[in-house]
Amino acid sequence: MNPESGYRGRFAPSPTGPLHFGSLVSALASFLDARAHRGTWLIRIEDVDGPRTVPGAAEEILDTLGRFGMHSAEPPVWQSQRETAYQTAFEQLVADGFVFPCGCTRREIADSLTIGHTRHARHARLAYPGTCRDGLHGKPPRAWRMRVPDGDAAILTFEDRWQGMQTQDLASEVGDFVLKRADGEWAYQLAVVVDDADARITHIVRGADLLDSTARQIYLQRCLDVPTPAYLHVPVVVNEQGEKLSKQTGATALDTGTPLVALMQAAQHLGLHPCATGSIETFYSDATAQWAKRFTSSGR
Ligand code: GLU
Repeated sequence: MNPESGYRGRFAPSPTGPLHFGSLVSALASFLDARAHRGTWLIRIEDVDGPRTVPGAAEEILDTLGRFGMHSAEPPVWQSQRETAYQTAFEQLVADGFVFPCGCTRREIADSLTIGHTRHARHARLAYPGTCRDGLHGKPPRAWRMRVPDGDAAILTFEDRWQGMQTQDLASEVGDFVLKRADGEWAYQLAVVVDDADARITHIVRGADLLDSTARQIYLQRCLDVPTPAYLHVPVVVNEQGEKLSKQTGATALDTGTPLVALMQAAQHLGLHPCATGSIETFYSDATAQWAKRFTSSGR
C-alpha cells in the first residue's frame, strides 16, 4: 500500500469474543476500500469497555485477521492505553461548556420518557429527556453527558458512501449523550472520535449498526475541532431470526483453516461477483478491483 495517497482507514473490533462472519465482512470492506485507494489500513482494538472485554480475545482476533491476510500497517492501537487522550478531549469539551454531570439512573430516565418518544422506532434507544441539563436537583453526579444543540442546529446531515444521505435530529432522536459512564468508563462515542482523529483516519468503513452513532460522532468532531472522515456503512449480516450476528446471538468463530471460503462468502455479502480464488493474493487483487470500480469513481 502507498501511504502517500493520504488515505487512512481502519478496522476497529471490540474484543468481546472471537472474530465471526459479521466482523469479517466489516474487516474485509475496510481492507478493500484502503487497497482500492492505495491507502494505509490500520487495526484498533476497542477494549475501552473494560467489563465487556474478554481476556485473550484481542490477540485471537489479530491472529485470525493475519491468517486472512489482513495486517495493520502500523502497530495496533489499544483503547485501554489511551486514557490520557480521552481525558484531554473530555477536559476540552468541559472547558467549552458542552458537558454536564447527570445524576439519573437508567430507571429514572426510562420512567420520565413519554410514549411520544417511541415513534422513532428506527432508533433502538430513547432520547435522554434532559433532566439534569440545568442542575443535578440535589442528586450526586453519576455520568457526564454531552449537551446537544436545540432546534434546527440539532439536525445533522451527512452522505454515506453506501447508504446515501442520512439525517438525524440529535435533540429528539438521541438527546444529550454520555461521554463518561457512571462506572467511570469512557463512552465508545468519545473514544472512537478521539482515536480516529489522532490516527488521522480519513475514511471509516464499518457495519450499518453504527450508522445511528455517526451523527453523534460528527457532532463531537465539530466540537473538538477535528476533521470529519468519509463514512461508508456496509449492510450487517443477520442470522435466520433477522438478528445482527454477534456473540450474543450465537455467532460462531470463523474457520481459520479455510480462509478463502469465508473470504468468498464475505465478498458475496458485499455484493462482489465471485472472486478469483487461486490464492489469498489473487482473491484480494480481484476483490479490490471490483471494489474500486464501485467505490472510487466520481470522488467517492
Ligand atoms: N468497536 C466497534 C464494533 O466492534 C466498531 C467501532 C467503529 O468501527 O467505529 O462494533
